[in-house]
Amino acid sequence: MTEHTPVDGANFIGGEWAPAASGATFVSVNPADPAEVIGTFPDSAAEDVHAAVDALTKGASDWAGTAPERRARVLEAAAAELESHASQLIEEMVREEGKTRAEATMEVGRTPMNLRFYAAEAVRSGGTTYPAASGSLVYTVREPVGCVGAITPWNFPLNIPSRKIGPALAAGNTVLFKPSEVTPLMGQRLVEALLAGGLPVEAIALVQGGGSSGAAVAADERVDAVTFTGSTDVGHAIHRQVGPQRRVQLEMGGKNPTVVLGDADIEMAAATVVKGAFGLSGQACTGTSRLIVVDEIHDALVDAIVERVAKLVVGAGLNGDVSMGPLASAAQLEKYRGYVASGLAEGAVLRTPEPESDHRTGYFARPVVFTEATPDMRIVHEEIFGPVLAVQRARDHAEAIYLANATRFGMSAAIITRDLQRAMEFAHASQTGLVKINQPTTGMAMNAPFGGYKASSTQTFKEQAGPSMMQFYQSEKTIYLTPTS
Ligand code: NAD
Repeated sequence: MTEHTPVDGANFIGGEWAPAASGATFVSVNPADPAEVIGTFPDSAAEDVHAAVDALTKGASDWAGTAPERRARVLEAAAAELESHASQLIEEMVREEGKTRAEATMEVGRTPMNLRFYAAEAVRSGGTTYPAASGSLVYTVREPVGCVGAITPWNFPLNIPSRKIGPALAAGNTVLFKPSEVTPLMGQRLVEALLAGGLPVEAIALVQGGGSSGAAVAADERVDAVTFTGSTDVGHAIHRQVGPQRRVQLEMGGKNPTVVLGDADIEMAAATVVKGAFGLSGQACTGTSRLIVVDEIHDALVDAIVERVAKLVVGAGLNGDVSMGPLASAAQLEKYRGYVASGLAEGAVLRTPEPESDHRTGYFARPVVFTEATPDMRIVHEEIFGPVLAVQRARDHAEAIYLANATRFGMSAAIITRDLQRAMEFAHASQTGLVKINQPTTGMAMNAPFGGYKASSTQTFKEQAGPSMMQFYQSEKTIYLTPTS
């Protein structure tokens, strides 16, 4: 690893980089080596959030009034800026969030693509004309909503914010960005790229800090729309705070199943499940946390999975041979340990080595596979967001569908089978926003709609990718015109 100088981070408010008004700070550390400080950042309070909204309110009409082509150019230039710093960003992301180099490379590559996608939407998304009485015109225009508050998690610290800030700015809104306190440097880097790309300073504010600064964003009545990705409990708190008059988009947790039917290729199924469950160290909202497998291949599939899991190398993400980085924070490690203990206490059978045997100082967590998991166990019905796979048995296809849907969450689900009829039956019966056939539950296209069903999302504006995403950031006004002399 190269030497690292801690970053002196700041908020960006009213066109200036500044500390929190109170002077309070927090540090971001390397989860592979928590003694290494990534940077010091402002621990913002409501007064900082209010100052940011004051500044954005003043700049709102200027940015809303810019030509769509200019907004597109800014996003494209920001994308190029990110690309020109890709190797630095990859290393910083690995150090701050804990991804492997390969995972960070993918995210750092995807983020500029998102910005370009929404740059194109800036000039594409228009209104409609409707049939009307002769001599009259009925048409719609799309207007920016106003000031958008974006509150984001740490697990995709560039990609998720870019999917909120990109469409918000493309539509002509101003943005108040509150990144996760686990990955503040990545949040700062994204804002720096937007400014370097020519974004007018009055169109964006960055406020660093923890949950209370996020709550202040949601509480400020001048924030017209709040887009949030994170845990279900926090999402529900934000929903209550925003209330019925303002727009809110909540993308929350998951408990995603992969169903494997008896005709599946065992090795292909094992590889797909391991990728979905243990990629990003199990910290993906679409990660596979439940495997539902029919009796006839249960034992063979579990053996194949356990064999593959034994080959996973857990370590610091900048090391080339590592397949799983550390968990992102001490809180994540504690949560993981709690769920492993709960699985054991509730009678699930541990098929992988004792997780407690890892005594390194980083937040490293061994991949865990439990079999004989049943619906009443916490490891089956609560989101863990770590490398723990609960294997459930099903008698047949019908019971597998039932078990897959027996959760309050509805993010993604997968089925592995060569039987197209069964696959389609599953796809239509699945109560999830995303269904994968012969693919891991993780991974999604940038250009297609994406959002959860049930407790994984609010059902008002659930899309968080693709062109329909623009609707959250725009109001559509209908205009009736009859010219008179
Ligand atoms: P989190 O809910 O703890 O935090 C998310 C963000 O909300 C952070 O910026 C945090 O500071 C802020 N926050 C915390 N308390 C707040 C409050 N009371 N009011 C306003 N803001 C507050 O989530 P996390 O640990 O950062 O991320 C993991 C969670 O995110 C998992 O549940 C995962 O499933 C979910 N997630 C969902 C998706 C999706 O697309 N649905 C994608 C990625 C992650």
